[in-house]
Amino acid sequence: MCEQNFQKMENIASMDLKEKIAELPQRGFIDMDIDPTLDLFEEIQKLKKEKNAVLLAHYYQNADIQDVADYIGDSLQLAQYAEKTDADLIVFAGVHFMAETAKILNPTKKVVLPDLHAGCSLADSCLPGPFAEFKKQYPDHVVLSYINCSAEIKALSDYIVTSSSAETIINTLPKDQKIIFAPDRNLGAYLSKKLGRDMVLWNGSCIVHEIFSLEKITKLQEKHPNAKMIAHPECEEAVLNVADYIGSTSALLKYTSTDEATEFIVATEPGIIHKMMQASPNKTFIPAPPNNACACNDCPFMKMNTLEKIYLCLKYEMPEIIIDENLRLAAKKSIDRMMEISAQAGIK
Ligand code: SF4
Repeated sequence: MCEQNFQKMENIASMDLKEKIAELPQRGFIDMDIDPTLDLFEEIQKLKKEKNAVLLAHYYQNADIQDVADYIGDSLQLAQYAEKTDADLIVFAGVHFMAETAKILNPTKKVVLPDLHAGCSLADSCLPGPFAEFKKQYPDHVVLSYINCSAEIKALSDYIVTSSSAETIINTLPKDQKIIFAPDRNLGAYLSKKLGRDMVLWNGSCIVHEIFSLEKITKLQEKHPNAKMIAHPECEEAVLNVADYIGSTSALLKYTSTDEATEFIVATEPGIIHKMMQASPNKTFIPAPPNNACACNDCPFMKMNTLEKIYLCLKYEMPEIIIDENLRLAAKKSIDRMMEISAQAGIK
C-alpha cells in the first residue's frame, strides 16, 4: 500500500475512534467492528503482555472470559488481588463497583471496565442522598455495607463487608453495638438471624438471587434426592431454609470440592458452575431455576462483558474508572477496615 493511502486509512481509523470515545458515556463500551479472523484469546494474551496488564474476572463471568483471565475470584479475593498487583493496567471483567473498588485500593494503576453500564441491582438500590437521610435516623448505629455499593455509599459507611468476611467483621463488634446493614436486606436478615444481632436493614436486593423459585427447587430436590442444595446468602429466607449449605461464592466452590456428595443444586449465579466443574469433573451441578421461564439465572450485568469488549478495552485502555480523590480517600477507610480484619482472620 502506498504511503498516502496508508495515512488516509490511519486518519479514518483515528476519526472513527474519536467518535467511539465520544459515544462512551451513552454506549458504555467501545463499539467497533473486530476483524472476524482474529483469535481473540491470542490477541488478549498478546496485549496483556505488551501492556503489563492483568485481567481479573469474577466467578460469575462466562466460561470463555474465565479461561483467558489471569485471576478469578469472588469480590473479596478480587479486591485483595487488585490491591497488591504490580501490573500497570487492571482490566476488570466484573461489574462497576468491583472495578471502582480496585481503583480505590490501587489508585496509581489504570483500571478499565469492558462495559461501564455493567452495574448491579444492589448498588443501584442504594443512592447516597436517601442513604444519608436514612443514616441520620440511627445516629448511634455503626454502618456496615456490603461491597456491592457505590464509592459514595462506601464513604458513608464504617465497614465494608463481603459475603465471605461479613460474619468475622460483625463478630469484632461489641454484642450490644447497634448496626445498620446495607444494601442487601436478604444478606442482612441472614446475618442478623445467624449471629443474633439486632440490625436495621436497607431495603435492597439482588435481582438474580431474589428470584429463585422455591417451588421449582423443591421439585428438583424430589427428583434428585441425593443432591445437596447449596445457596448464597443473598437468596430469600424461604430458599435458604431448604439449603443444605449456605455460603459465599468462594465457600460454595470449596464446599462442592470437599463434600462427599456428587450432585449439587446450585442457588447462585450459574457462572460459578464452570469453576465447580473444573474442580470436581466427576460431579453433577444443576443450576437452581428462577421463577420465570428461563432454565438458569444469569446476572444480566455480569454477562454484559464479552471477549470482544475485553479485547477492545484492553487495546484502547478504556472505558477507564476515574474517581474524585476526596471521595476515594473517604471510601477507602471503610474498605481498609475490611481488608485488615480479613487479613488478620486469614480470610482469602
Ligand atoms: S448477581 Fe446480583 S449482586 Fe451480583 S452483580 Fe448481579 S445484580 Fe449485583
